[in-house]
Amino acid sequence: MTGNQLGDAGSMISTQLAVVGGGPGGYAAAFLAADLGLQVVLVDPEDNPGGVCVYRGCIPSKALLHVAKVIAESRHAAAWGVQFSEPAIDLDKLRGFKNSVVARLTGGTGQLVKHRKVRYLKGRAEIVDAHSLTVTLHDGGNEPVRFDHAILATGSRPVRVPSLSLEGALDNDRVWDSTRALDLPLVPKRLLVVGGGYIGLELGSVYATLGSQVTIVEMTAGLLPGADRDLVDVLAKRIAQTAKAVLLNTKVARIAAGPDGIRVSLEGADVKEPEQLFDNVLVAVGRRPNSDIPGLDRTAVQVDARGFIVVDAQRRTGEPSIFAIGDVVGEPMLAHKASHEGRTAVEVIVGENVAFEPLAIPAVVFTDPEIAWCGLTETQAVKEKRTVTVAKFPWAASGRAISIDRLDGLTKLVLDPETGRVLGVGIVGAGAGELIAEGTLAIEMGATATDMKLTIHPHPTLTETVMESAEVFYGQATHVFRPLRKKPEVKS
Ligand code: FAD
Ligand code: NAD
Repeated sequence: MTGNQLGDAGSMISTQLAVVGGGPGGYAAAFLAADLGLQVVLVDPEDNPGGVCVYRGCIPSKALLHVAKVIAESRHAAAWGVQFSEPAIDLDKLRGFKNSVVARLTGGTGQLVKHRKVRYLKGRAEIVDAHSLTVTLHDGGNEPVRFDHAILATGSRPVRVPSLSLEGALDNDRVWDSTRALDLPLVPKRLLVVGGGYIGLELGSVYATLGSQVTIVEMTAGLLPGADRDLVDVLAKRIAQTAKAVLLNTKVARIAAGPDGIRVSLEGADVKEPEQLFDNVLVAVGRRPNSDIPGLDRTAVQVDARGFIVVDAQRRTGEPSIFAIGDVVGEPMLAHKASHEGRTAVEVIVGENVAFEPLAIPAVVFTDPEIAWCGLTETQAVKEKRTVTVAKFPWAASGRAISIDRLDGLTKLVLDPETGRVLGVGIVGAGAGELIAEGTLAIEMGATATDMKLTIHPHPTLTETVMESAEVFYGQATHVFRPLRKKPEVKS
């Protein structure tokens, strides 16, 4: 402990900033605050910062998805005249690789805590009042902390559905949430995935590639509700080949453990087999905010009907000394959104006149192909009755996509028809998650289709699909013949 963190009350820690929760929101905030010269205490139950994202979310899932991609590509190589034998999967080694990825990254955040002289308390925080909390330390005892400001970054946890639970220990063994699925306990023969959202599709595709027969049940009419259908259609085609079945408009009414597996009752207009047997069930039906922080009711912090902590644009709660960021304050529940909110909150605390007002937050589903979008989607534009022009470039016309045999892609720009300003970008295809960054920058910089078109992109790359989408807007794309019926009248 540094001397200036000792308060008047003897052993009580007194600090300028206490951050509760060490996920990508909390640790980004704590690190920036330390860089700006604040004394910082960071509280989290894990050995090192990382939160859900690093320990049981973004990072381990992407390690497994990478392996799945290598397997899928090696299988596909037969089409190019290169035949590999079917991979032998050593699950212990694969799990070891995934764990080593997590350990490496969390070891790194632990080092950064030390370099920045952030006081890290391994434990759980309880709020005492608007300027103090107490930490139940993992190794025993309590640590009271007085703070000038606090940032709550307690994240979220999987939604649990009572009708999708089994009794006692069987529940964790047979019915998995994402955390359990990431443990790779086994590769089940028959896996039911409940929820066709981010987690269901990402982890479902990992298990399908490892050898499970995967059935996906989604209660709405399409996978990834909210995302543009033309993008989802490309992925859905691929999933139709890799999954055993995708059941839309379907709900799981009940599950029951039997000697031969889990008996699942399905309900829905298109369900042909209402009773089915599975070895395991992965429930991925959303996440709920961890706003049930003990003692929060001793402050003026408000929680809304969905359980999110209510914050203003500066991420200040109803209690002037307390800020909140990340999954606990609302959607989208994404790591990069949490980190940016964290940095905004810290800047506000040090007196800068800033707010969290992004024009675009990129979303990426790391399936194969990946889907990524940012800014205004076409779906949203239709819903809000906004007039937009959508310029699309199919990857079948991209030299790069053809040379890597990945024609299953589409890049689209959602544009203001009058000014050509880029309002949204959507991409499906191999590596879409990397490509979307250009779209996010374009939106934030107020770029127009002309800017995208005049920016020289390297050849042959998939980035050219962004440039050629802009050319499509003008009816001048080199690699697609799509003359305009009416020339856009773009104001300069
Ligand atoms: P979290 O990461 O949830 O961290 C909160 C921390 O606070 C936790 O460590 C928790 O233990 C701690 N905490 C809670 N209560 C207390 C308390 N009282 N005292 C002390 N500590 C407390 N997002 C992406 O952007 N990209 C992805 O690829 C991606 N993949 C994902 C894959 C999976 C399987 C899952 C589950 C999520 C994924 N996400 C992804 C979402 C991402 O993990 C979250 O959006 C992100 O972790 C939220 O960050 P956060 O800082 O708000 O909270
Ligand atoms: P989700 O909201 O992405 O998807 C849940 C899906 O389950 C939805 O399609 C919903 O319609 C469906 N559903 C809900 N109840 C159902 C039921 N009873 N039966 C059948 N279907 C049902 O939630 P998730 O996949 O659990 O992921 C949670 C959040 O974590 C995501 O929204 C995202 O914010 C974050 N996440 C992000 C990434 C990424 O960035 N790549 C990856 C994983 C998770």
